[in-house]
Amino acid sequence: MFDVIVIGGGVIGGCVLRELTKYRLRVCLLEKENDVCMGQSKANSGIVHAGYDAIPGTLKAKFNVLGNKMMESYAKELGVKFRNNGSLVVAFSEEEKATLSELKTRGETNGVEGLRIIDKDELRSLEPNISDEAVGALYATTGGIISPYELTIATIGNAMDNGAELFTNFEVSNIEKTDDVFTVTSTTSEKVSATLVINCAGLQSGKIASLIGDEIGVNGRKGEYILLDRESGDFVSHTLFFTPTKKGKGILVTQTVDNNILLGPTAEELEDPDTTTTANGLDFVISKAKTMCKNPPLFNTITSFAGIRAYSDRHDFIIEESKTVKGFIHCAGIESPGLTSAPAVAEYVVKELVGKNVSLQSNETFNGKREPDYFFKNLSTEEKNALIQKDPSYGKIVCRCEQITEGEILRVIRENPPAKDIDGVKRRTRSGMGRCQGGFCQPYVAELLAKSQNVPLETITKKGKNSYLLTGVTK
Ligand SMILES: Cc1cc2nc3c(=O)[nH]c(=O)nc-3n(C[C@H](O)[C@H](O)[C@H](O)COP(=O)(O)OP(=O)(O)OC[C@H]3O[C@@H](n4cnc5c(N)ncnc54)[C@H](O)[C@@H]3O)c2cc1C
Repeated sequence: MFDVIVIGGGVIGGCVLRELTKYRLRVCLLEKENDVCMGQSKANSGIVHAGYDAIPGTLKAKFNVLGNKMMESYAKELGVKFRNNGSLVVAFSEEEKATLSELKTRGETNGVEGLRIIDKDELRSLEPNISDEAVGALYATTGGIISPYELTIATIGNAMDNGAELFTNFEVSNIEKTDDVFTVTSTTSEKVSATLVINCAGLQSGKIASLIGDEIGVNGRKGEYILLDRESGDFVSHTLFFTPTKKGKGILVTQTVDNNILLGPTAEELEDPDTTTTANGLDFVISKAKTMCKNPPLFNTITSFAGIRAYSDRHDFIIEESKTVKGFIHCAGIESPGLTSAPAVAEYVVKELVGKNVSLQSNETFNGKREPDYFFKNLSTEEKNALIQKDPSYGKIVCRCEQITEGEILRVIRENPPAKDIDGVKRRTRSGMGRCQGGFCQPYVAELLAKSQNVPLETITKKGKNSYLLTGVTK
């Protein structure tokens, strides 16, 4: 029996879980996939938004600005890479310049500091590859970038180090409340009980709400991206946005914390969105990138991918206790800026909503610190040599593109939350994220997984379920 069950291992569930472990509570996380961070938190832009975009008075505006202020120290404590690179909303006409002033006023109302409108000369000095057609920009100095999957995995790992339990492959299909105790059942009939339940199920948060009779409309909007190799990493240094118009927000062009360049996302309302990319979607991204910048280095494209935004029919975050079922808390329909907002949302949910139901007593043994998952390439030669002396597995480079060692891969297979498949290792270490996209390292990573888990090689999957790499022995 737990005090609190969190449903959904995305960035919201992860930050909430970690926040809960700051108190003397028995807590667990239920995730339907083989690994955590398999929903929106895995495939997004990774922008720590400044907060000028959200309508004043909304939860989005409140938590965006608070989360932005918290993110640098939050990431540092968890060993997650964050960079305060600043963002630029670029105008291409006098009409768009007027919109920049509106955005600046909106941001200031929301409490965003350091907003400034800059002219085309300053814009060009900040971003030499910006299009000649650009006439000015709104400069948001507090904008930043972060790795969304590193952040999500680190919050859940740190929560587990502080006593939280993780149940993967646990797809919640039923919730019952009897005598103030919730019993949550999975599709495979496993049962877990607690006095409080927090719904952080992203795209499925509406479905989870319906299990207790609450009606929350959550829909999906697909976004497609193109990723360029680190070789082009200095093409831009800030995050470049189009000025929003009636036709939409366009795409963004940004550096990532790992020095790739990211172009996208599209925004397509689909009945049943999936994460495949399409020729039309990617053509749109390319044409917009060419409008924003001179000669984007598209020859350096290494992959494309898509994410699905979960947006609520209230067009705001839904963060509240159920009006009909006491002790059931919703964090539903958390679309952008949900990544930015996550640490602030978690603090609010635990202090205000959990705290209303149970007494929160500090966990004196809580340790919020966590070491980064991959680090070898950033060590000095002396440090590298010392580490190899201690553990020779750090002397073997497995991923040549990203310079990731066997030692780092073995570490993420063992530490919390353990990587159980190829993509799990990839998200934690970047092994397979470089130019060859795993062509060289994938077979060896599969062997390391099989050996560490003491299972046959053919049982190793790319991302759980039926995504097997091998069909069986040929000879
Ligand atoms: C294309 C795109 C771009 C974005 N860009 C940004 C950005 O730049 N900056 C920003 O701040 N925000 C951005 N966002 C928004 C941000 O990614 C989300 O707000 C955030 O990731 C939401 O996290 P979550 O934990 O609510 O949902 P998710 O990450 O989707 O997590 C939900 C989890 O619940 C699990 N689950 C679902 N159903 C069940 C069930 N029945 N049982 C058990 N588990 C279940 C899922 O498998 C999943 O792991 C973007 C989103 C998208 C899609």
